[in-house]
Amino acid sequence: MEIRSCPECGRVFVDTGVEVCPKCLQEEDRQFDTVRRFLQENPGVSIDHVCEETSVKKERILKFLRQGRLMQSRLTGVELRCDVCGAIILSGRVCDACVKKLQDVANELSPDSRASRTGKIHIFDHIRDTRK
Ligand SMILES: [Zn+2]
Ligand SMILES: [Zn+2]
Repeated sequence: MEIRSCPECGRVFVDTGVEVCPKCLQEEDRQFDTVRRFLQENPGVSIDHVCEETSVKKERILKFLRQGRLMQSRLTGVELRCDVCGAIILSGRVCDACVKKLQDVANELSPDSRASRTGKIHIFDHIRDTRK
């Protein structure tokens, strides 16, 4: 078992592939809920306003956006950019055009991946198959 220390609180925990310790992860989920609920009630507010009202750190909210857990369209005053080309995106790390380019490259590298262009389609196929 790998042991690592949490970058948030410094506590030592067993590495399960998650960045932070279980306690901080729980806290993060709680903060995510708070932010999500706040945005549901107040769509279109600025990210600074969300920070003030929910006392969740701006970096944390940006992280949620990066993870695709929050949609930027509900927020103002924040610009997410594609990791590859720098285009403005609404959520995640890479813009749609670059996702497509990356997929094309992946397809060229391994013909097998053609069958499952995206994880979603693959999952749908799987569900359909198991229903037979
Ligand atoms: Zn921690
Ligand atoms: Zn891009």
